[in-house]
Amino acid sequence: MNIVIFGPPGAGKGTQSKFIVNKYGLHQLSTGDLLRNEIKNKTELGSKITRIMNNGELVSDEIVSNLISKFISNDIYKHKIIFDGYPRTLAQANNLDNLLKANKQKINIVLKLSVSLETVKKRILERQSQENRADDNEEIAIKRYQTYEKSSEPVLHYYKQSNLLKVVNGEATISEINSEISDLIDTIKG
Ligand code: AMP
Repeated sequence: MNIVIFGPPGAGKGTQSKFIVNKYGLHQLSTGDLLRNEIKNKTELGSKITRIMNNGELVSDEIVSNLISKFISNDIYKHKIIFDGYPRTLAQANNLDNLLKANKQKINIVLKLSVSLETVKKRILERQSQENRADDNEEIAIKRYQTYEKSSEPVLHYYKQSNLLKVVNGEATISEINSEISDLIDTIKG
């Protein structure tokens, strides 16, 4: 089973991905984490993307697609990936389908966590004091939310058409969201 978890910054994608990892034995593949590692390790790629990420914009489709392709072709991760923060554009969604097809895999469910801008601001400010992420402040949070609003619509439409999209109320408590997600996954697992 491969899962996509989708939603604006601060929706709880990381928290819910970790829950799914523990409960269903999947591997979390967070493009945000992979990109932050490049910056932390001061790689050539890291220096290219620092400004873009700190501004709350999206890095290029090519960069993120290159990052995820080696996971998809790796047997350890086969049928066991939760894509956290990828795809974020229609081009990425198409690319993901092609990569999965080439490796005889598919996406089984897309979980969209819905939250308001007010909640995003509140959660990002809380996270800022805990994790000290360079892109977690109110101004950039709003920018990242707007970036999400602009790029997400075609992706959601795409997954709706293929009947994979399930919308989860991201305003509920963590444990309520955990159980809603478990029910959805258990239904498709059969
Ligand atoms: P996240 O941790 O998922 O909130 O991602 C943090 C930042 O990494 C985003 O604001 C983007 O700058 C970049 N990023 C993460 N995933 C992607 C993606 N799939 N496409 C483009 N940029 C991404």
